[in-house]
Amino acid sequence: MARSNRSSEEKRREKEQRRAEAQRQAYAFMQGRNGTDELSTVTMWVALAVAIIDFFAHTGVLALVALALMAWSVYRSFSRNIAARARERQTFLNVTRMPRQAIKLARLSAQNREKRYFLCKQCGTILSVPRGKGKIRVTCPNCRTKVVKKS
Ligand SMILES: [Zn+2]
Repeated sequence: MARSNRSSEEKRREKEQRRAEAQRQAYAFMQGRNGTDELSTVTMWVALAVAIIDFFAHTGVLALVALALMAWSVYRSFSRNIAARARERQTFLNVTRMPRQAIKLARLSAQNREKRYFLCKQCGTILSVPRGKGKIRVTCPNCRTKVVKKS
């Protein structure tokens, strides 16, 4: 009994060690590589969406597009040229800033009915005023732009 307990304990420890080793190897492999970022994640989702469309539409071309997008996403994650990947990521974030802010704004508005949310015209920061207080003067905490907003 004691012996079988010990061997199951040994097995457990061995399994743990194998897992730790696999984790260490994965970490060593990703060392000095870009890893996943917002752009590679979105690329993967778009690829998946395109693949699903092709699944129903049978275009064939879209399947290739999906494959190419997946390959690009994986390539970016494993790339060692981190500076170039960071530039791509920044371009992506800049280009998608307004739609991302609009989505955030819509989500905040839906969550909190007591406030009116809007974007600073100068810098795009999300600002808010309590609803139903008439005209309120707001100073953007980010760029100090003043705006009079009807609440
Ligand atoms: Zn601002």
